[in-house]
Amino acid sequence: SVLTVPVGLGDRSYDVMIGDGALEAAAPRLPGIFPRQRAIIVTDRHIAPLHLERVTAVLAGAGIACDPIVMEPGEATKSFAGLEQLVDALLERNIERSEAVIALGGGVIGDLTGFAAAVTKRGVGFVQIPTTLLAQVDSSVGGKTGINTRQGKNFAGAFHQPRLVIADTAFITTLPERERRAGYAEIIKAALIGDATMFDRLDAAGANVLHGAPLARAIADAVAFKAHIVAQDELEHGRRALLNLGHTFAHAFEAEAPRDAIRHGEAVAAGIALAFRYSVARGECPASDADRVETHLRTIGLPWSAATLAHKDWDAGRLVARMRDDKKNQAGEITLILARGIGKAWIDPRIDAAHLVAFLETSL
Ligand code: ADP
Ligand code: ZN
Repeated sequence: SVLTVPVGLGDRSYDVMIGDGALEAAAPRLPGIFPRQRAIIVTDRHIAPLHLERVTAVLAGAGIACDPIVMEPGEATKSFAGLEQLVDALLERNIERSEAVIALGGGVIGDLTGFAAAVTKRGVGFVQIPTTLLAQVDSSVGGKTGINTRQGKNFAGAFHQPRLVIADTAFITTLPERERRAGYAEIIKAALIGDATMFDRLDAAGANVLHGAPLARAIADAVAFKAHIVAQDELEHGRRALLNLGHTFAHAFEAEAPRDAIRHGEAVAAGIALAFRYSVARGECPASDADRVETHLRTIGLPWSAATLAHKDWDAGRLVARMRDDKKNQAGEITLILARGIGKAWIDPRIDAAHLVAFLETSL
């Protein structure tokens, strides 16, 4: 069965359809989104041979002809060069503002295509068909699109909401297990921020939560949670920052580790565990809650500390220096999302760097 989660953003509200067969379930909606009866589909060279045929067949069944644009896989595509190539390709196809472009892929394809859609002819529509668990949970809500620049990740971008998101779990059957686990980190993150009963449910399912109906339910819960927060704070002036739980640590790990040594979700999992441990160290969170978080991450097969990441050679001072550089900080201060317990995250915008270095030195 397919679950539909509404994302309420006034006149830019849209649905996220989730589950095995979400693509077929979405078919009746497609003619309304593609009035010229053609869909430009942006995907990458890995995904095209695996999933493009099915997407093309479902669209054909809805009377829509597909016109694919196949990009190179990998983070380098999320660049000014990739943007130029894609905008060019869209304009060569005479895309009109009444049309929408489909992003069929992971975070790289989704972020790039969303940004290209936002700027081409000052904004064409876009439909997301995320094919990684990470993208299904994470980039499907919030409308963040963009590319990396020389200065940093996602430093050029726009908020551009999709018309529809189709998170079909059939796509992730071809995803390596490590990628699936990494994507799960963004699911558990939602529960730990603000939904203790969701955590209990995920914890009771254990490793089974990575497959089948429990996974679809977990994606839907995480998407609904995120939609709720984003609806309150679309442009991230306040509560939306809670969604960065684990991420300030994660971005530092990712910046310090060799290229491709660790996955984003793995860094987030370790970062979440550290946020709980640091909260305990400050006397603000029961140790038993941090224990439960670590045990759950271990059960899933995710890192649950800095020492259990695939890269291990960390330096506390360098990590904290990276955390100072995080673009989410205000005026040179470190903002961290901490927790008073499971489901009780809060924002501390004034973290003492020296104190944090001392804590990290004991936990690396
Ligand atoms: P994310 O940021 O969502 O984790 P990326 O866009 O970086 O994902 O994609 C990671 C890699 O996985 C890319 O090489 C991409 O081509 C590949 N990929 C994406 N979706 C699938 C899938 N469903 N099956 C197999 N490989 C996939
Ligand atoms: Zn993330």
